[in-house]
Amino acid sequence: TGHLLVVGAGQAGAQLVSSARELGWAGPVTLVGQEPHAPYTRPPLSKAVLRGEATVGSLALRSPAFYREQRVDLVLDERVTRLELAGTGAGTAVAASGRSWEFDRLVLATGAEPRRLEVEGADLDGVVVLRDLADAEVLARRLDVADLVVVGGGFIGLEVAATAAAAGVRVTVVEAGPSLMGRVVSPLTAELVRAAHQAAGVRVLTGARPLRFRGDRGSVTAVELEDGTSLPAGLVLVGVGAHPRDDLARAAGLRCDGGVVVDAFSRASDGHTLAVGDCADLPDPTPGSDRRLRLESVDNAVEQAKAAATTLVGDPRPYTGVPWFWSDQGDLKIQIAGLAHLDDEVVLRPGDRPGRFTALRYRGDRLTAAECVNAPADFMVVRKALAQGRTVSRDAAADAGVPLKKLVA
Ligand code: FAD
Repeated sequence: TGHLLVVGAGQAGAQLVSSARELGWAGPVTLVGQEPHAPYTRPPLSKAVLRGEATVGSLALRSPAFYREQRVDLVLDERVTRLELAGTGAGTAVAASGRSWEFDRLVLATGAEPRRLEVEGADLDGVVVLRDLADAEVLARRLDVADLVVVGGGFIGLEVAATAAAAGVRVTVVEAGPSLMGRVVSPLTAELVRAAHQAAGVRVLTGARPLRFRGDRGSVTAVELEDGTSLPAGLVLVGVGAHPRDDLARAAGLRCDGGVVVDAFSRASDGHTLAVGDCADLPDPTPGSDRRLRLESVDNAVEQAKAAATTLVGDPRPYTGVPWFWSDQGDLKIQIAGLAHLDDEVVLRPGDRPGRFTALRYRGDRLTAAECVNAPADFMVVRKALAQGRTVSRDAAADAGVPLKKLVA
């Protein structure tokens, strides 16, 4: 017990302080964040915020009363720039402003930061990224352009592409890999999603890379691709993934390897400091898996933080569970349960209408994951089956005439 300091007031940090209090952490709790806002939910940044349908208040993860009632000292607008660790779990955190906090236990929940492109013109006005509310407000204000180029066909890029296209903007998505969302979904799902975006008027280029951004008087006007194509662009969103924010941890001597390296109890290499959410490199929580990875999802931020709180209060439970993720792209509601390996096989289960399907991923006969598009009932069934260590009979999985529930074995 003693003073608990949480650095990073986002999804994971907010959950951590809630869970620590619930589990009986009695000492003072301080939650420090560099943004001017109390912890808020990020998924609407690429949708509702761009449509002008959300406010800071509506995005808040906890009510203002929560921090008061739970005696959480929420400190905003302070960026922690240095950590001194005593080796016992205790130490001092120093902010850019000079303010400092002594702590008995430290949790890092610093999230991730958008990658930028190292190409000519990347610093032109109108070349933007999307991670926080300030970014989303800039993007929303500038969406009155004729042409938007989205660099990166990942989740965030495609969400913004769909939102902008629905608002009447001409949108081109430029993806370097052979398929959209290539790191996460099967090529089959990627193709069907691509077709849906194209039907909604979005132009999708795969195997295409920007060579440079062209500008006029400091503002972007076009994206030139390596193959010589020039795409007009009044606005460019660069959505090419995110780096874990692990610099503080690394400078403090904690092991980092593309994220703060933690064990199943969220403990960093000193055995005391905890790291949760997008900034952590962790053992895959999927039962039976022995790989390590970084997960960037609301589910992971929340569930890992809940588990980490048990470590804090001296009743450590490992973080286990079946990771899941969702992405809303225009009319497509994509839900993914489980983590497939890239080479897992795919069985397509057609839906009862166009635009609805489930792609089941298998390793041998064992179900590893499912990509459900506009198929929330399938998602529920698969998520539950995976959580129970069960599978879906592979031979019959493609038969949409039989309810998925009946195929769980
Ligand atoms: P964050 O929520 O990013 O919080 C980290 C906080 O720490 C930030 O406020 C940061 O400014 C602060 N910080 C960093 N360093 C310091 C420092 N040194 N001092 C003080 N403060 C610091 N996930 C889904 O599951 N589904 C979705 O549909 C989905 N959509 C998304 C859409 C967008 C546009 C974005 C950006 C993300 C989306 N995600 C989605 C991902 C999800 O939001 C993240 O995985 C989640 O927010 C991670 O939580 P976190 O607490 O680790 O990081």
